[in-house]
Amino acid sequence: MPKKVILVVLDGLAYTTAEQCMGYLQGLKTQGTSTLYKLQCELPSKSRPLYETILTGVTPVLSGIVHNDINRNSNQQSIFSLAREAGLTSAAAAFHWFSELYNRSPYDPVRDRHTEDLEQLIQHGCFYHGDHYPDNYVYLDAESLRRRHNPDFMLIHPMNIDNAGHHEGVDSSHYRNTVRISDGELSKYLPTWIEEGYQVLITSDHGMNNDKSHGGILPEERDIPLYVIGEGFSHQPDAAPKQTELCGSICELLGIAGHGKPMAAKVLVDTQALKIPYVPAAV
Ligand SMILES: [Zn+2]
Repeated sequence: MPKKVILVVLDGLAYTTAEQCMGYLQGLKTQGTSTLYKLQCELPSKSRPLYETILTGVTPVLSGIVHNDINRNSNQQSIFSLAREAGLTSAAAAFHWFSELYNRSPYDPVRDRHTEDLEQLIQHGCFYHGDHYPDNYVYLDAESLRRRHNPDFMLIHPMNIDNAGHHEGVDSSHYRNTVRISDGELSKYLPTWIEEGYQVLITSDHGMNNDKSHGGILPEERDIPLYVIGEGFSHQPDAAPKQTELCGSICELLGIAGHGKPMAAKVLVDTQALKIPYVPAAV
């Protein structure tokens, strides 16, 4: 059966900090509800290039989104475009660069901050444009979208962890405490999502270094967490997908057959059973 999916991208969250500071998520892991994998992000370890990698399964060098200032629509098939072609609905509470990649570019805050447009790839959107926009507001925006629109696929993208890392570095109380706060916010919503049968992936675009930046190949910049929750996952300990396989794996969970994206079969259960006929939309 196709499933509903929530993807949480915690911007700038390093693997080790997630493992040490996200007590609620670690509690779910101990209980057997979630499984934690260590992923290596693609390069460069920067935000906009890796948003595109997560949502399309294409590396930055191949997608052409190789730095943060590239301000254009994605020219790849994405989870959003494949979902729309399959007749599914999507929503996002996220930084405005996602609106620029998949809806309209450049971002016009008056027009785009609150998006309700079935013609767009992200049909229901609440976008923000300040790195300091509070994470708890992002979660509220997302939960409001979820309750009002019941989307098949929802992206949630808080920015405060990355922002804290740019101010104080990865080895700082400010960075760690911001991670703890996001874990606390997740504990307000995840029990409902779990109860309602969502498949949840919680990951990051890239990590953070102690120079208050990221972009290179240091382990703290490249090693990122992936928590998976739901019956659609195998929960095998050695099934860690590549970052480029998140897109295809989510398409499988959504039941989008023929998506053509690389996927991590081991991280999922019985992918054949999840498939529904895929009929591309007329262009
Ligand atoms: Zn950053």
